[in-house]
Amino acid sequence: MTETVLLVGGGGREHAIARALADSDADLYACAGNRNPGIAEIAVGFETLDTTTPPAVVSYAEDVGADLAVIGPEAALEAGVADALDDVGIYTFGPQEEEARIETDKGFQRRFMEKHDVPGCPDFEEFRDTEAACEYVDEYDGDLAIKPAGLTGGKGVRVMGDQVDAEEAKAYIRDSDYDRIVLEERLIGEEFTIQAFVANGELRVTPAVQDHKRAYEGDEGPNTGGMGSYSDGSLELPFMSEDEYHDAVDVLRAVVDALDGYKGVLYGQFMLTAEGIKVVEFNARFGDPEAMNTLPVLNTDFLDVLTAARDGEKLPKLAFQRRATVCKYAVPDGYPTDPEAGAKVQIDADSAGEAILFYASVDERDDGIYTTTSRSFAVVGVADSITGAEEVAEDALQRAGTDGLRVRHDIGKPDLVQRRIDHMAELRD
Ligand code: AMP
Repeated sequence: MTETVLLVGGGGREHAIARALADSDADLYACAGNRNPGIAEIAVGFETLDTTTPPAVVSYAEDVGADLAVIGPEAALEAGVADALDDVGIYTFGPQEEEARIETDKGFQRRFMEKHDVPGCPDFEEFRDTEAACEYVDEYDGDLAIKPAGLTGGKGVRVMGDQVDAEEAKAYIRDSDYDRIVLEERLIGEEFTIQAFVANGELRVTPAVQDHKRAYEGDEGPNTGGMGSYSDGSLELPFMSEDEYHDAVDVLRAVVDALDGYKGVLYGQFMLTAEGIKVVEFNARFGDPEAMNTLPVLNTDFLDVLTAARDGEKLPKLAFQRRATVCKYAVPDGYPTDPEAGAKVQIDADSAGEAILFYASVDERDDGIYTTTSRSFAVVGVADSITGAEEVAEDALQRAGTDGLRVRHDIGKPDLVQRRIDHMAELRD
């Protein structure tokens, strides 16, 4: 039966969701703050609206007769868009505002882990009082991660011993006007993500992905929304064992067991440390870029997952192509601190060749597609090895030109992957 599906959000992640639904029996409609040309091409209809205004989304969903909705961005979840759609009888694959606090409130997230004995919680304290937080920095024996409790688009965290020293950490705490700050033990190791589809008390996990948050090659520079990512042809990544992958899945399962009625994607950001798996954070939706690694190799019909979730059935077992993926984002020059918009995008799906092109925050005008101040587009290579996938992605980037754009070319290259393996080996010694 054909289902009318509303997709909320207009980034690379949502383009990947749209593509995953393109071959299924779904009539896809989409709404986002920006017109994403890739989604617009797949969708039957596309509306530009503020996706953090629940009545606007509900009104569009009702107009198009949506049977189901999928929410991409965390800001829409935080604004209660899932609650509003569920309230009018449109099942939404995405948690309600209260459950999305697992992502939107880092203090809640850590207390939740503590209360429910979810494994892998670092030492932490939450502060409302800036001076008390600074005293804690002075007294704590070791480095800390300074984390604003609310959403910051992945850009609010400062890590002592890596990005800042104790004095800079205190200055950051004093100068920022965050209501609440979480200070937690600095974790050392290799990061990875596992995303799970969750509904009806069950979870279905996807292969691990490693994102690259730092802006510049060699993991230098400020944090970004994510510059690119890779996955391997197996569930785990080259620097970890299959058992470690399953330890992380056990963490996700503990969260799902503790949450009552969560639906949507549960994203675990983990640090593999010398002492095992620790949790960096949870997100309440697909990762961006990680969705672009995971969905292209998903053989199971994503619509079947959505309808099973809605109909209270067991979620289908997931099947994946056993292939590696490498995703590289092209971002505007100066991103993330001083981005310059307005460069014309030279690549399209055809010229991307073997790679898959995902549009993100671009501006579609009469004479072409232009960059904005956020990430512009991503190319994803899929191949039998990470190295092969990286070459496919690079080949597409060669044809994308470089005017006004910046890319982290090192992502997925053998040298960088080897550094991850060596880093873990050193820590384990
Ligand atoms: P988050 O917004 O929590 O994902 O944090 C952004 C980035 O900050 C993470 O991807 C990590 O690289 C880093 N980070 C967050 N928490 C910690 C921690 N406790 N120890 C070390 N690095 C962290």
